[in-house]
Amino acid sequence: MKILFAAAEVAPFSKAGGLADVIGSLPKELEKDAQIAIFTPLHGLIDKEKWNIKELPNSEMWITFGSQPQKFNLYITKLPDTDINVFFVKNDWYFSPFKEVYPKYLDPRYEHERYISFSLAVMEYAKALNFRADVIHANDWHTAMLPLYLHSNYKFDEFWSRTKCVFEIHNLAYQGVWFEDVIDYANMRKDIVYNQWGCEHYGRVNWMKGAINYSDRVVAVSPNYSREILGGEYGEGLDYTLRMNQAKLRGILNGIDYNAFNPKTDKSLVANYNLKDFKEQKEKNKKAVCDYFGIKYNPQRPLIALISRLVGQKGIDLIRDMQYELQNLDADFVFLGSGDNAYENLFIWLSNNTANIRTYVGYDAKLANLIYAGSDFFLMPSKFEPCGLSQLIAMRYGSLPIVRATGGLEDTVTGYPLDNSNGFKFWAYNGWDMLNAIKCAIWVYQDKYVFNAMRKSAMEADFSWKRSSEEYLRMYREITGLK
Ligand code: ADP
Repeated sequence: MKILFAAAEVAPFSKAGGLADVIGSLPKELEKDAQIAIFTPLHGLIDKEKWNIKELPNSEMWITFGSQPQKFNLYITKLPDTDINVFFVKNDWYFSPFKEVYPKYLDPRYEHERYISFSLAVMEYAKALNFRADVIHANDWHTAMLPLYLHSNYKFDEFWSRTKCVFEIHNLAYQGVWFEDVIDYANMRKDIVYNQWGCEHYGRVNWMKGAINYSDRVVAVSPNYSREILGGEYGEGLDYTLRMNQAKLRGILNGIDYNAFNPKTDKSLVANYNLKDFKEQKEKNKKAVCDYFGIKYNPQRPLIALISRLVGQKGIDLIRDMQYELQNLDADFVFLGSGDNAYENLFIWLSNNTANIRTYVGYDAKLANLIYAGSDFFLMPSKFEPCGLSQLIAMRYGSLPIVRATGGLEDTVTGYPLDNSNGFKFWAYNGWDMLNAIKCAIWVYQDKYVFNAMRKSAMEADFSWKRSSEEYLRMYREITGLK
């Protein structure tokens, strides 16, 4: 079986969030059962030398859309520790200039053009490489044009005649909405796709809606999120479309790469550890984190971490609401994140004006891992959370998640005081409830017997890809009829 993954980011080459982690790890588990190709843009930030990314000979291709032909080149490397080909689509107008995966302040129209160009290049290059995929697995709005192209322009192309499509929703909040003229720009068959059963949504083009309507299966990244998005509160305006397509909808829990995120071998830590020696070793990492952030290390005082994109989704508003209460707690806080200016400024202010909150505004994967290892608790007060990988990484590193029980957080964290609990939960989107959950965690911290038992449960929990990858395979087999 041949599977083509297309995504805006792929770890470890380019990463802004959980999407990259998924595309960089799920294919590894599928490798033994399927032949896989991953397509992603060659963003300017990708280090070609470090990852040995080479241009394929004679790869130059001109594709016409909008009003003129555009030049593309194709680069290739292997996904680390695998035999999987990762293809990077190079275009100097759309991707090469940027040092971020999602550059801020781009004109939205240009954003659409970027990913239209990428999707077209994926279709054309896959054909040129004779990679006749049985399944195209598209992810989020950036590649949501693929099922539409497959259904319209390429519908009668013999090469693609057997290809099925899976569309995975990592985040329903970003749908790719623009005016109708963008379809002409995309050279797409408007007569086929621009209607309410296609991608038309209240007089606009909505790529995600089109992908949901035209794909053979739609995947949400956790079972709970797949139920939540059928209703108005979490449906982001597409709940009706999702209900109409409910028979195709699956909720499959994301996993993390247990080799990449392994406290026993992780080079970012100052002391490696496993289930046997985590109590002593984690303290060394905690001290390193305290030193880094200029906090006085105190083994009797819990260290609570937050690592996140700083956007509305992540519940930073609750931290803003509770900023004075947090300062009075018997705990230290370290925050690592980047995103919206208002939140970045809040974090900088807190760092400069409080005794127990320190922040690093920016993106630093190495520091993130050290913080996972050195913290006692990991805060994730998300407003909504399709799956959430951070809490899984935190558990793997023995840092107990304190979460709002929504989306994948509800599925993956067992809240104190249930049997085998591995974290703390609150339900209402409300700062006081968050504060109570944090207080409960601080209280449990003083009872080392319970605290250590919970840390052990967290580290023992299995959120590797093994189980989920089998569900993906079953789904691919279901739609293709292949073994
Ligand atoms: P999302 O995909 O919505 O951003 P996830 O929890 O699924 O959230 O995944 C977030 C991933 O990005 C985690 O691996 C987390 O460690 C990482 N991450 C987020 N912000 C930063 C940052 N500022 N520095 C380093 N890593 C970060």
